[in-house]
Amino acid sequence: MDNRPTTRPDRRTFAIISHPDAGKTTLTEKLLLFGGAIHAAGEVKARGAARRARSDWMKIEQQRGISVTSSVMTFERHGLTFNLLDTPGHEDFSEDTYRTLTAVDSAVMVIDAARGIEAQTRKLFEVCRLRSVPIITFVNKVDREGRHPFDLLDEIASDLALDVSPMNWPVGMGGTFEGLYNLATKQLTKPDGTTAPADLSHHEPVGEELALIDAGYAAFDEVAYRHGDLTPVFFGSALKDFGVTELIDALARFAPSPRPQPADPAPVSPDDAAVTGFIFKVQANMNPMHRDRVAFMRLCSGKFRRGMKLNQVGTGKAIAVHSPILFFARERETAEEAWPGDIIGIPNHGTLRVGDTLTDGPPKTITGLPNFAPEILRRIALRDPTKTKQLRKALDDLAEEGIIQVFYPEIGSQWVVGVVGQLQLEVLISRLEAEYKVDAKLEPSPWDTARWLAGNAKDIDAFATIHRGALARDRDGALVFMAKDAWELNYVKERNPALRFSATKERA
Ligand code: GDP
Repeated sequence: MDNRPTTRPDRRTFAIISHPDAGKTTLTEKLLLFGGAIHAAGEVKARGAARRARSDWMKIEQQRGISVTSSVMTFERHGLTFNLLDTPGHEDFSEDTYRTLTAVDSAVMVIDAARGIEAQTRKLFEVCRLRSVPIITFVNKVDREGRHPFDLLDEIASDLALDVSPMNWPVGMGGTFEGLYNLATKQLTKPDGTTAPADLSHHEPVGEELALIDAGYAAFDEVAYRHGDLTPVFFGSALKDFGVTELIDALARFAPSPRPQPADPAPVSPDDAAVTGFIFKVQANMNPMHRDRVAFMRLCSGKFRRGMKLNQVGTGKAIAVHSPILFFARERETAEEAWPGDIIGIPNHGTLRVGDTLTDGPPKTITGLPNFAPEILRRIALRDPTKTKQLRKALDDLAEEGIIQVFYPEIGSQWVVGVVGQLQLEVLISRLEAEYKVDAKLEPSPWDTARWLAGNAKDIDAFATIHRGALARDRDGALVFMAKDAWELNYVKERNPALRFSATKERA
């Protein structure tokens, strides 16, 4: 083993959260372009378009080779490595999207200047808030008519209960756009890219706006930002390259380096010598014949080297990582090592599961990867009843990938699948057929939502005698209560104050 002291290279591991069409793909492309990771506009677009062909799952399948590697995009700027983790861009949520946010240290929230905060922005923001993920806001499309900047700032502040601190200011929008004024340096960057000091105190209406900004908004406070209590706001246009460099610079300057990860029995610090990481995503590989999977591991501590043996905490199984996919490797060149904040793709045959911790040190379990309460529950029925075993295997596999959740009712033989969005159901049926040769159909279930149950054994037993018909086990054997609707859930909760009904199940 190489025991020479090394300096840990710094990383910015982040994700972009946004509502569809706000400009995430366009911004991603610009970030990669500025970081030299791609060379022509359009490369990311093509991937985005493929991803969005939502009704045609096979098309997505064919794109798997690309989508595996594009799950993490890496670029460099001024010697700093940025790892951008992709959050799938369709309207429906999968747990995948949520879980990806557990593997980042910060996020960029993209908002359409004409639309403001939209439904999906809000949902993703809530997930970030669960872990106090610091957020930089990019208000996109100022090259078009949009809502007034004050209006947008106030909406972010009140909707998300977040302090906002404007970092630059659009001088006009759409047809009247004259440039972006940097509030700290007091320089104006014009649409042609030139930057020079500017005195806008007599500009109509910006002069007055600047006075109001001084009086009405908090100055940027790095500590509040790091705690997830304040968001610096940049206005710009991903399409026209306005404000994009400022955004990258802000990520470099303010966004946190790899943070310590909560773990049992003690947190994992990026400076720990032992190599420790956790699996936040598992994706089936291109070749359906082999059912290969790639497990995505976020490295939290230590210096990872190709060929290393890591232990799967819990099972103690040793996993030799001979052919890791290291996303920051340039073109053909293979990287030999990785550092905290980096993502490693580990090909395996289903041994690795979302939530697993891998380490070459003393066993520690990284905590805080939530399972989310499904919003749609369906019974799953086989057209060919001899395929029960295959179906069970497939459901367990797909649950492990985070495509669906599966619940095995305590009474009755019909299994229930739970999802957060409709798209997950479409994906489920086509993958059952394509990869497992299982012809299944979905049927309505009497339930609408599910909650993980916790409490002392006596209370749970008492509850079970009354509600057995609505109880199920998830794939890990944890007890789940399925409710007909929100009303019933509330009613049952109120009648059973000794029990906890949680919408998210954290893996121990
Ligand atoms: P995504 O769904 O969030 O990935 O959004 P895209 O990046 O695909 O952008 C959605 C649409 O908005 C596309 O037609 C883009 O060309 C357009 N768009 C993105 N950024 C800008 C911008 O800064 N200005 C304008 N006018 N259009 C933009």
